Amino acid sequence: MKFALLNDKRIEATKGAKGICPSCSSELVARCGEIKIHHWAHKKKCDDHWWENETEWHRNWKNRFPKEWQEIIQHDRSGEKHIADIKTKEGWVIEFQHSRIEPEERRSRDSFYSKLIWVIDGTRLKTDIKQFKKIIDEGHLDAPSLLLLLVSFPDWSRLLMDWKNSNSLIFIDFGMEYVNNQDLWLIYPKKIDGNILLSKFSRSAFIQYLNDSEFGGIIDLIINPIQKTTQEYSKEQKKRNNELLSEGLSTQFYSNYFLFPQNILEKTTLPNNILKKIEPPYL
Ligand SMILES: [Zn+2]
Repeated sequence: MKFALLNDKRIEATKGAKGICPSCSSELVARCGEIKIHHWAHKKKCDDHWWENETEWHRNWKNRFPKEWQEIIQHDRSGEKHIADIKTKEGWVIEFQHSRIEPEERRSRDSFYSKLIWVIDGTRLKTDIKQFKKIIDEGHLDAPSLLLLLVSFPDWSRLLMDWKNSNSLIFIDFGMEYVNNQDLWLIYPKKIDGNILLSKFSRSAFIQYLNDSEFGGIIDLIINPIQKTTQEYSKEQKKRNNELLSEGLSTQFYSNYFLFPQNILEKTTLPNNILKKIEPPYL
């Protein structure tokens, strides 16, 4: 935890300091060693069972946003409360998730926060990276734009399996240590006949638009139109398949997995440099 409360003020951990947890009000001790980031630790476990021990990855992400947005207590009507990693001025809650969480907890958080963005640490397991590369290799690209990837077999990747059913926005962070991977991978919230849509999303644009309180615009300009067009196209195609079938004709030229119209993005005007081309090396 970065902030503890002391006399109703938020304070950072310094040697010997004391404070209380803003969520469960239990006593915290300042941990200011040489190796780990300076942080507050609970003497006994925090009542907020959603709280995850902070890693350097968490702290680096939080520090991309103003202090006043970090570690914000959120209540629901029943009085349940949780610490949101970030809450922006536009009302977006951003949760930085390093460890794996159970689907049940993921669902609870999806419904607790009305505008939720997850940023997932994709570097925790080597197998996750390997599986994700395979997914990209096998996916169907929206050519020639190369900005959208349709994945028909999301279950090949544990990460995608864990997150594909979320109705929140998911961004996977594969870190800075790999080649050409400054960008995040966006999982679009709506499925298209069991397939999922992915885009490579500029890390700096993500941070900038959220900081500038213009992220809602990205939803209107990019995410919603892409989902809508893809879904409409998929529906049309199904209809066409059925017509062909009813006439006893083969549907092989309209196979289900090829869901993109000729460059879906031609119909959509996108702000520059937010979506990145999906080209090798992928990660
Ligand atoms: Zn606590």
